[in-house]
Amino acid sequence: MKRYIGKRVFDGVVIGNLVLYDENISVDNKSEGNEMEIKKFHNARESVIEDYKNIFHEKKQLSDNTIILSYISLLEDLDLIEMTESLIAKENVSSQVAIQKTCHNLKQMFSNLDNEYLKERVKDIDEVCNKIIKKIQNKKEIIITSPSIILARNMSVSSLLKIESSKILGLILEDASPNSHIAILARSLAIPCIASLYERMEVENDELVILDCSNNCVIVSPLKYEIEKYKKICERNDFYKQELNAYKYKEIETIDKKRVKVFANVSSSLEIDNVLENNADGIGLFRSEYIYLNSDTFPSEDEQFIQYKKCVSSLKDKPTIIRTMDIGADKQVSYFNISKEKNPALGYRGVRLYKEYKEVFMTQLKALLRTSIYGNLRIMIPMVTNIDEILFVLNCVNEAKKDLSLRNIPYNNVKIGAMIETPAAALICDQIAKYVDFFSIGTNDLSQYLLAIDRENPKVLDIFDYKHKAILKLIYYISNIAKQNDIEVGICGELARNKDLLGFYIKCGIDEISVSSSYILECKKNITSINTNEIDINEYIN
Ligand code: PEP
Ligand code: MG
Repeated sequence: MKRYIGKRVFDGVVIGNLVLYDENISVDNKSEGNEMEIKKFHNARESVIEDYKNIFHEKKQLSDNTIILSYISLLEDLDLIEMTESLIAKENVSSQVAIQKTCHNLKQMFSNLDNEYLKERVKDIDEVCNKIIKKIQNKKEIIITSPSIILARNMSVSSLLKIESSKILGLILEDASPNSHIAILARSLAIPCIASLYERMEVENDELVILDCSNNCVIVSPLKYEIEKYKKICERNDFYKQELNAYKYKEIETIDKKRVKVFANVSSSLEIDNVLENNADGIGLFRSEYIYLNSDTFPSEDEQFIQYKKCVSSLKDKPTIIRTMDIGADKQVSYFNISKEKNPALGYRGVRLYKEYKEVFMTQLKALLRTSIYGNLRIMIPMVTNIDEILFVLNCVNEAKKDLSLRNIPYNNVKIGAMIETPAAALICDQIAKYVDFFSIGTNDLSQYLLAIDRENPKVLDIFDYKHKAILKLIYYISNIAKQNDIEVGICGELARNKDLLGFYIKCGIDEISVSSSYILECKKNITSINTNEIDINEYIN
């Protein structure tokens, strides 16, 4: 039995078998001579073809078979074969490096083509090339066949989204910070999760583990008495969840009858069922960049439209705030080709990208506006620091409307809001208020920039003080400015659900808090036990 300590991301206690998920593919350039490397390439390629043929015979569903046939034809493609052979022969590189370069070249060739079908095949190239590299390295594929606790090393957000949710009992993000986007995603998917472990786990696949997020620990190979103890805890937790259900359809107000709406944060339209299940009052933050993260090429207007429409129409007249793409920093999307930066959090991110990627941004705005007739859509701009950025977006929205009119596509006017998540935006929010219809305070970035604490760095996590007067003073200031300008103000960062601060927010006049769906009922329950007459704002800010 061994116990490892980390930091809680999402609460829960689960018992299950471990699956190691390490998706780092690092290629080795050690060559055993050109002839041998070419042979290794062909052996691996043929063996992958054999694997696909076996899957082809096992699968009954036609759609699966079509994909598998296209993988096989790619593996037999002369371009792939000749390019790799020539790289090995002419550049004297290893078979692993050669296939990696071929993959890159083929992807570029395909994505420059003016053919939607071939563009789609970019995903297939990655799939088959990675399979060949893993075969050469003798690495086994990670296939999660039954509900498991996943130990993730270097897992990307898109990989997490690709795993069937019923297969994830719990998640251990060994080296990620609890404020990283992968952790936020785990939280919105309500996956019991801890992150930022103090030491690397020495474990094997399939070992029995207990993930106890309440105590920030994971127990490997637990003793019998511990298994029994934790089974009882699981039963009690199930009972608490049942209790929370009582708040689902209740009119929520504080003891002194003050109201605050509880919205949901989502990263994908797949989470809509959770939002409806918990009866959220709206969506306060749809992180649209996950659509880009989960795609291998720029998502088309129609692809985006389908996802946005699902949210907007499911929520009916409740507001759905969709944030335009916040790409950059720890949400890098390879096909944007953003060059490596020394300080990505202070770099090319969010609204700062929109001028250079204007066409991509316009595609998103058109997809969004098209959904406006299906419900109560609102659009929100991320990472604002000055008025020019807002004016640029407002102009783009007008251009997008003109384009839709020319195409005879209907749309409604929508409210446009700004995320207040940089100290600059917070301090000039009186000016910003003249141009937008609402504010949403992003406490994750606002506190990162205010307190100079990198949200991605577990080392400085312990000095993060959620009651720091700098943060609370700004929240108070922003909400006052919003009231003076008669616009709504919400909080959508992780601090929104903080039990100790809920009363303060309500007293400040915050209209809505937006939290992961999994916290909605708990927040509603907490609100009912607050009496704002007992809250003295001065104690929080002075
Ligand atoms: C925030 O910064 O508080 C926020 C909600 O946005 P994100 O976490 O996606 O950066
Ligand atoms: Mg942010």
